[in-house]
Amino acid sequence: MNMTTDSSISAISREAAFNTLKNELVLNAAYIDGEWVTVAPLSDESDSNSNSDNVHCLYDPSVGQVIAKTRLSTTAHVEAAVTAATAALASWSQTTVSERARYLHAIADALEERFDKVVALSVLNNGKPVEEAKIDASDAIASYRYYANLIAKQETWTEVSTTESSVRLLKTYAPIGVCALIVPWNFPMVTSAWKLAPALAAGCTVLLKPSEVTLLPELMLGNILSSIGLPKGVVNILPGAAEVGAAMTSHTLIDKISFTGSNAIGEKVMTQAAKGIKDISLELGGKSAIVVRADADLDLACELIVGGIFTNAGQICSATSRLLVHCDIAESLYQKLKTHTQNINIGEGFAATTQMGPLVSQQQLKQVHNYLQIATEENLACLTGGQVLNRAGYFVSPTIYTKVPKTSRLWTEEIFGPVLVSTTFRDDAEALRLANDSKFALAATIVSADQSSALEMALQINAGHFWINEQQIVLPEAGWGGFKQSGIGRELGEDGLAAYQKSKHVLFAK
Ligand code: NAD
Repeated sequence: MNMTTDSSISAISREAAFNTLKNELVLNAAYIDGEWVTVAPLSDESDSNSNSDNVHCLYDPSVGQVIAKTRLSTTAHVEAAVTAATAALASWSQTTVSERARYLHAIADALEERFDKVVALSVLNNGKPVEEAKIDASDAIASYRYYANLIAKQETWTEVSTTESSVRLLKTYAPIGVCALIVPWNFPMVTSAWKLAPALAAGCTVLLKPSEVTLLPELMLGNILSSIGLPKGVVNILPGAAEVGAAMTSHTLIDKISFTGSNAIGEKVMTQAAKGIKDISLELGGKSAIVVRADADLDLACELIVGGIFTNAGQICSATSRLLVHCDIAESLYQKLKTHTQNINIGEGFAATTQMGPLVSQQQLKQVHNYLQIATEENLACLTGGQVLNRAGYFVSPTIYTKVPKTSRLWTEEIFGPVLVSTTFRDDAEALRLANDSKFALAATIVSADQSSALEMALQINAGHFWINEQQIVLPEAGWGGFKQSGIGRELGEDGLAAYQKSKHVLFAK
């Protein structure tokens, strides 16, 4: 492997990302039992024809061009990875909490050392602006550190108080076993860290499947795990597509599934999980509300609305994609919001001035474009945007519709793009009714000068995480997950660790 780099190249640039891709990442391979196992080398013929012979292309979404060709893992790799993870479980589950904490800190250290490289790969493969990719990498590091510190404090036995004085009751935690971790493309490295860190902390072994759309940042993880000497088989990485995900989630030797993705696939995964009665966590879609009360600071409201829907080009499960605004301030807010939105710099992620990048793929562009066409058919009032940009890459203008009826598909469905729908309310009761009018219930933002009224609203809105007068900061200490069709279970926080452990109780005579 040629590890030389050109010192004249800026650390976070397209050139630097290509350098890392060429010199450090292993394509056409799955990471199984501590080794990169080649799927099948690319022939000259497949090199010249991206659609031939099961060749999988990775794209730079800012220009819509192929950046790498690879072959994806197969169900045979799933078998090998399950065997490796099952064999590794016996010793990994017996490691001490301080040993596991040491490995988790080592992953965080290794990510810090490769920070610029991971950021550059994420910008190249995902299209997100550099500043957003930096936040992602920092969030991933914070997750590994958080679970290192949390597990280090976990006692082997805790005393449970009982009403029965003649006995003692002790409680301990055991790892669930071999876990299948499946993540989407919108936050590579982050969604995997939210699963991998607590799974390893708990003493589980894993099969991790990154999204086939954004493989590059997560391929770096294989190198990191080798570099820190993580015991073989504890983590196996399968760069595969749906077929591999399905083989993982229906395998009878998998004990737990943790899936983040769309509701359509979540439903399939839940069915697949029934085979062998597996434990399951699902982090699915959202259609979250941002409520702007009449006493809100309008400039702050604009910042939070824009941050909540246009960050990551709206490809966020917790995007506050439904704006509810008090009727007394609606017109002034919309005017400010229009100016604010039209001033957003759209461009490729590596450009320092870029505030919003492209959508991740041609398929995602098609999905969002479809909703823009529905909006035209439904005659929705477009405050700004509403178009696919006429340029290379997968760009959509930041879009806001007002007076959107509750019957519109844009009101009820997750668009997963930079499209905000809005309506007005007359009082808190109506705001609550509107906020709760969704099959999803993941998160919500409330903008108000009256913190206690905002807190009262948080009690009444069906969601798992709230921000009051704040951007969408997600701390590793706070549990993450929703109600209703936004999923099952919680990630992050202590609940995130509990998702990979089962309690055991021992009762004995005093
Ligand atoms: P997706 O459901 O298409 O894919 C998610 C993952 O599942 C991918 O790795 C994919 O390869 C895999 N997969 C596909 N078919 C499978 C099958 N039959 N069995 C097992 N795995 C299979 O989702 P996406 O388009 O990658 O991501 C966008 C979706 O993810 C949005 O709906 C978004 O709301 C959701 N999401 C939710 C959260 C959350 O925390 N709630 C976070 C991020 C994304």
